[in-house]
Amino acid sequence: MSNRIIVLGAGMVGTSCALQLQRAGMDVTLVDASDKVTETSYGNAGMIATSSVLQLNNACLWRALPGYMLNRSAAVRYNLPYVVGNAAWFVQYLKQSTTSWDKYGIRSLSGLIGPSLVAHKQLMGQAGIRQRLAEKGWLKLYRNEASFVSGAYERRCLSQAGVDLVELDQQGIAELEPDMNPLFCKGIWVRDSASVDSPGAVTEAYRKLFQARGGMFYLDRIQSINRFEQGYQLQGSRGVLETPQLVIALGPWSNDLLTPLRLRLPLVYERGYHQHFQAVADKTLNRTIHDADAGYVMAPMEQGLRISSGVELTERDAPATPHQLTQVIPRAQQAFSLGTPVEVEPWLGSRPSMPDSLPLIGPSTRHEGLWFCTGHGHIGFSTGPVSGRWLATHIAGQPVAEARPFLPQRFDL
Ligand SMILES: Cc1cc2nc3c(=O)[nH]c(=O)nc-3n(C[C@H](O)[C@H](O)[C@H](O)COP(=O)(O)OP(=O)(O)OC[C@H]3O[C@@H](n4cnc5c(N)ncnc54)[C@H](O)[C@@H]3O)c2cc1C
Repeated sequence: MSNRIIVLGAGMVGTSCALQLQRAGMDVTLVDASDKVTETSYGNAGMIATSSVLQLNNACLWRALPGYMLNRSAAVRYNLPYVVGNAAWFVQYLKQSTTSWDKYGIRSLSGLIGPSLVAHKQLMGQAGIRQRLAEKGWLKLYRNEASFVSGAYERRCLSQAGVDLVELDQQGIAELEPDMNPLFCKGIWVRDSASVDSPGAVTEAYRKLFQARGGMFYLDRIQSINRFEQGYQLQGSRGVLETPQLVIALGPWSNDLLTPLRLRLPLVYERGYHQHFQAVADKTLNRTIHDADAGYVMAPMEQGLRISSGVELTERDAPATPHQLTQVIPRAQQAFSLGTPVEVEPWLGSRPSMPDSLPLIGPSTRHEGLWFCTGHGHIGFSTGPVSGRWLATHIAGQPVAEARPFLPQRFDL
């Protein structure tokens, strides 16, 4: 088999694949429609969180579900026709919201998330951007005792999984975040997690590292993929690319080009918004916080304080409806003084999510030479480098045992 390979999509996941395949000695071309990182790998909250081993469709989802039904929650909103149109996905998502699935999910995701911080640190060191990483953990904060109590299952699961959690009272929170208003009575400090000050800049630095090592970045929007005897033909506006092996790492666009191959990934869009606010003089947020009762994440970023909203379940390209963001901004103001907004319009992106909350990493069972590294949902920024490493070992014929739960064969792809 030739050692030429194309990685399609240069967000965090595709770029990480390209770097790891290059390291394994392959001749890699990385293709993207944009020379800037502006999509999902730009707009996320930048967390490399050990606590993500407990997936969002955990056993507690059932208790939260009635609160989402009225479609006014800041945490989750839905477009009913979209949900009905993807009913099979949602049925599986809900069916797996059980304690036994949580155990399986935690075991599987621990293999992927556990080594993620070290993998990022290595790449950041090589890319010369270690200063972008803060190892201060993150805070989940509760406005009242009752909501803290309702998080007991999550805390138990995470502690059993070995996540480093510290329970905080109001004073403990104030010691870590002295400039925050004393609004929260309880908190959890996830101490062994880290975050970056610009996920887009980190992804761009990894792309540059790939190029500095001799990797080819090819700028074009690919319009179709077709099989031919020697592999795959990619038709773009600049011409046709041919390759014996192809990695689909298109994040939320991963289904767009697969129809000629008679493939359809079970992928739903969990859209999210963010907006930056200038910091107020003398006020510093030291680490990312998640206000559990109000349903937003606030992260200190290069551009300002990034407020990210919850999940909006709708078509990827439907017009923006940033009601959840509008809803949480006054609540974020209660917690921390915000200056003026940095952008007029909020950023909008889509988490590419699988019904079992596990990304797709590995070979297609139906097409030789076709590989997937996509469907990373809420965890693609943090887990890109380890996903790329696993994919590269599989392509080299030495798949690792920890990667088994992530194989595309579970969906007959
Ligand atoms: C609000 C929000 C907060 C999040 N917070 C976190 C977090 O804190 N930590 C974490 O780990 N994850 C987080 N995530 C999830 C994470 O951002 C995603 O899982 C991850 O960025 C997906 O990366 P990707 O490379 O698969 O996709 P993308 O980054 O979307 O990359 C896909 C690439 O494909 C390219 N492309 C698309 N179509 C074509 C085409 N036809 N031809 C060529 N190129 C094409 C696009 O230009 C793009 O560059 C968050 C997501 C959101 C929305």
